Amino acid sequence: MRISVRNIMVAEATLITVLQYGFLRKRWDMIKDIGHWINGAMVSGQGETLGPVFNPATGEQTGMVRLASEPDVNAAIAAAQDAFPAWANTPPVIRARVMFRFKALIEDNMDRMAEMITAEHGKVISDSKGSIIRGMEVVEFACGIPQLLKGEFTENVGTDIDSWSVRQPLGICTGITPFNFPAMVPMWMFPIAIACGNSFVLKPSEKDPSAANFMAELMQEAGLPDGVLNVVQGDKVAVNVLLRHPDVQSVSFVGSTPIAEYVYRTGTSTGKRVQALGGAKNHMVVMPDADLDQATDALMGAAYGSAGERCMAVSVAVAVGAAANPLLDRLIPAIEALKVGPGTDPDAEMGPLVTQAHYQKVKRYIDLGIEEGADLKIDGRDLVLQGYENGYFVGPTLFDKVTPDMQIYKEEIFGPVLSVVRAPDFDSAIEIVNGHEYGNGSAIFTRDGNVAREFTSRNLTGMVGVNVPIPVPMAFHSFGGWRRSLFGDTHMHGPEGVRFFTRLKTVTSRWPAGVRTGAEFVMPTVR
Ligand code: NAD
Repeated sequence: MRISVRNIMVAEATLITVLQYGFLRKRWDMIKDIGHWINGAMVSGQGETLGPVFNPATGEQTGMVRLASEPDVNAAIAAAQDAFPAWANTPPVIRARVMFRFKALIEDNMDRMAEMITAEHGKVISDSKGSIIRGMEVVEFACGIPQLLKGEFTENVGTDIDSWSVRQPLGICTGITPFNFPAMVPMWMFPIAIACGNSFVLKPSEKDPSAANFMAELMQEAGLPDGVLNVVQGDKVAVNVLLRHPDVQSVSFVGSTPIAEYVYRTGTSTGKRVQALGGAKNHMVVMPDADLDQATDALMGAAYGSAGERCMAVSVAVAVGAAANPLLDRLIPAIEALKVGPGTDPDAEMGPLVTQAHYQKVKRYIDLGIEEGADLKIDGRDLVLQGYENGYFVGPTLFDKVTPDMQIYKEEIFGPVLSVVRAPDFDSAIEIVNGHEYGNGSAIFTRDGNVAREFTSRNLTGMVGVNVPIPVPMAFHSFGGWRRSLFGDTHMHGPEGVRFFTRLKTVTSRWPAGVRTGAEFVMPTVR
């Protein structure tokens, strides 16, 4: 063959194509295939749709998650149905021992699990660990299930008649969870449901699906029989099957308000017990007498921790009277000093947002705030990190002079954007907190006990903090908001969780001694 420029170009192009193909193949080989956990085994299922999973710090696709089809969800429900009777019959103390072992396995695998969460969600490793520990505390609570399930007994409710109440499991319970806590929020649900004797089907967020499968594997290692806990990966197709399937007894949902409302309406219309926790816009009221240094530290962590992607994040600071200017004087340098970086950087205090779409959405909200006339004090839109140019990083952002009629105030941004609303006095601050459609959490910073007491009594949110910015209840209390932050009657985990995952049966019993009393046609009363 004659060596010509053209031949060299063709050869070069061929070589590049071969190299590129090799590179892409290599990359594709490195992309994790994330399936479902059904009946104690990882399966690909029949669904042919795949969802991409990204590393938010680099923007690279790292996985593909199998999105369950109707037959896949039906298979998980069938496994749960088969496993239920034997598990419900297993003594609570044996069920508790599985939980004890599961807790130990979480501790043993803490680093691995935290890395898994950070790789798909983006939050910093220390925060991933914190969220795992908060989930593990629910497992610790579930370890006490023999005590928690103890019923009530009354001897002689009538002459020689005894009565007692027991709480029995429901059957198949399900959980549908959001992206922002891929381990903790599922652990608000399945440990208590399972400890109560139910079987469970979990549908985690398709954005960060790996932690759920890993927890299911650990539960198997802890001794849980196959089929008691199943994980179906997927989107609304899977959710709709769970909401309508006649064998499903309950639905626990955590996510945004429109979907929570839809899940509540659909699930209850098909006769299921539903608890659906929705979105939030949490306010922190800062009174002029507050320790402003402490209030600033509190706001920093609560507004920007996990890049604001927490349902208990403080996204509105209500600065009362003279508190506003000195608060801003402290906040601005603190925000400027905040370290943003990939979640794997031990010095980073805040990581990226979860997806490219969410990154764009948060930036649009900042544009909107400017259009609406809010005073942008710190702009996080143009943050670019060297080596992570394709990551979904938005820097911490601060708006002052936000008013309740603005869209950036009314809507949940779910990003590192803090709005300062100025209120003339305490009464107007309370009015602002209670005027918002969401009622998840709220907090007040003050040194005045009477003001704090008024605040906790009069405000319409489900979780209230006094000099505590993120008042997330411990596992042995219950978690939940009010108004459009929760649809249903019970909060999650703690005592409310046990009530939600069981139903009450009251038995009245007599052992007649052989004396026949004849039929009675009047309402029985105790004489
Ligand atoms: P999301 O509502 O988009 O998704 C939650 C779950 O619902 C996911 O499993 C998702 O696959 C599924 N889903 C999404 N669209 C659906 C549809 N059309 N039909 C049926 N199912 C659907 O929420 P997200 O973006 O994953 O999470 C962030 C939201 O969750 C925020 O609003 C946050 O406030 C909220 N959240 C609330 C709490 C709480 O305790 N109240 C806790 C954590 C997160």
